[in-house]
Amino acid sequence: MGLLAQLAQGDSAQVGRAMKIRADRYAIASASAQCPACGRWTQVVSLVAPERHERLLERDWETVAERVSLFYVTQLSAGVRRRLATLTPWYRQPAAASQPGFVNHCEHCAHPLDDHDLHCEPGGAFQPQTLAEAQGIRVWEIAEDLDAEAGGCGHDPAF
Ligand SMILES: [Zn+2]
Repeated sequence: MGLLAQLAQGDSAQVGRAMKIRADRYAIASASAQCPACGRWTQVVSLVAPERHERLLERDWETVAERVSLFYVTQLSAGVRRRLATLTPWYRQPAAASQPGFVNHCEHCAHPLDDHDLHCEPGGAFQPQTLAEAQGIRVWEIAEDLDAEAGGCGHDPAF
């Protein structure tokens, strides 16, 4: 689907029970968002599973043709965690055990940023509404295995 058609189509985020996802590569999309706690702009990232990644349905792995951005990430393999700790240390598990999973934290005040606001709200960092917003999102390709469990998928993202 073309970028403009995707933008016109609007919200393509889907939230459900956490699903296991794997691929032999992945991408990290980087954007910026305003922290709700301190009001300053901070970097935020999203993992992106590539075209033809696999997801576990019951006991069988199914190939998914399209790219998906991942949010509500509950588990990541050690290799992905190491890569994120180096490249994007603000995307991590919160200190509070009551909040499992990986979230972006404000670079200035360490406040955790809600994935819902970033991924599911029109105009959120990973829900661009204009071509300029979509083109402002940088994508780093990582040629390493992805093993993740995520409760949210943005289908065929515009970045
Ligand atoms: Zn902040």
